Amino acid sequence: MRISRFQGVLLAFSAVFVFSLLLVVWLRPHELVREKILLGTFVQIKVYGTDLDALNEAVEDAFAEIQRIQERFSRAGVGALAQLNQAEPGTSVPISQELLTLLELAQHYQTLSQGAFDPALGQLEDLWGFVEDWDGTGRVPSETEIKRFLALPRGFTLNAATSEATRVSANTQIDLGGIAKGYAVDRALEVLQSHPVQAALVNAGGNVRTVGQVPEPTLFWVQFRPFQVGVQHPRRSDGVVGGLTLTSGQGVATSGDYQRYFMLDGVRYHHILDPQSGYPANKMMSSTVIAPTALEADALSTAVFVLGPEAGIALINTLPEVEAVLITQDGNVFSSRGLDGKQFSL
Ligand code: AMP
Ligand code: MG
Repeated sequence: MRISRFQGVLLAFSAVFVFSLLLVVWLRPHELVREKILLGTFVQIKVYGTDLDALNEAVEDAFAEIQRIQERFSRAGVGALAQLNQAEPGTSVPISQELLTLLELAQHYQTLSQGAFDPALGQLEDLWGFVEDWDGTGRVPSETEIKRFLALPRGFTLNAATSEATRVSANTQIDLGGIAKGYAVDRALEVLQSHPVQAALVNAGGNVRTVGQVPEPTLFWVQFRPFQVGVQHPRRSDGVVGGLTLTSGQGVATSGDYQRYFMLDGVRYHHILDPQSGYPANKMMSSTVIAPTALEADALSTAVFVLGPEAGIALINTLPEVEAVLITQDGNVFSSRGLDGKQFSL
């Protein structure tokens, strides 16, 4: 049978069309979402890419990295930080470059926040019952216990040249809880990026960082949109007070009095402690910070939670590429210069 020229052209077009369709289906990005309990919280990883096996492997590797960080930098147990916490006060202990860097960063945020961020509150957390393996309960320490803790010296010194750390007193339990989740998110995202992923989001209990843009397949093509995260409503677990659009690489962290707390006689006692009073910081319900890394966002969200709205916003406004949304105990919303405050309401 002979086919006409017209039929030939039609056939060729059909072949190209079918091939393109197959290509579109083949290159359609998958979304993979996995959750695990790590670092005492829910960790969610979302990845996008065309190769499902590669996505699975990427997520497994990222979770393994978070697990490694949990083991090393928990304040109790057998890891590197726990060992430092058990070392004789006044005695220098060799530490890894990684722990040295984390401890230096913790001291940096302590100075920046004029002491509101304090990485040596482990014993005070224990007094309130917010132990490493917190079981949902707590206790209110006596005033004497709190006064005794506050009166004793605490902290640590670092020797970068020899990579050594020294606890200044037996009263010092170094606790990186205010910074470690952000660090873990940064590291997990780095691990994900060493795999063929198109875009990714890591969320460790309200500490989020994303890379790339979310691919959204349409009938014949794939569109990309930026990642968006909601700012959690501090009193309604299913609500948000507004949304944030993240550019690739940006980190965002929320510290809240609803994340770890117990109620006693109608009073809420939560885990973010004011190093001056020894009691839970009482000015805010939540603080959300956007920053170039998850670690920076994490440290600053804890710091400004303690500082309160005025001092908190003043600090955030001095920092380049950092923004904040703060919700006070009386339900007022404060936002930094670069954000439209009207976007957020309770
Ligand atoms: P985040 O979850 O980032 O808001 O940090 C809260 C955690 O940081 C607590 O569970 C403690 O482990 C630790 N923490 C509590 N109060 C402070 C503080 N004033 N400065 C630094 N870390 C703190
Ligand atoms: Mg924090």
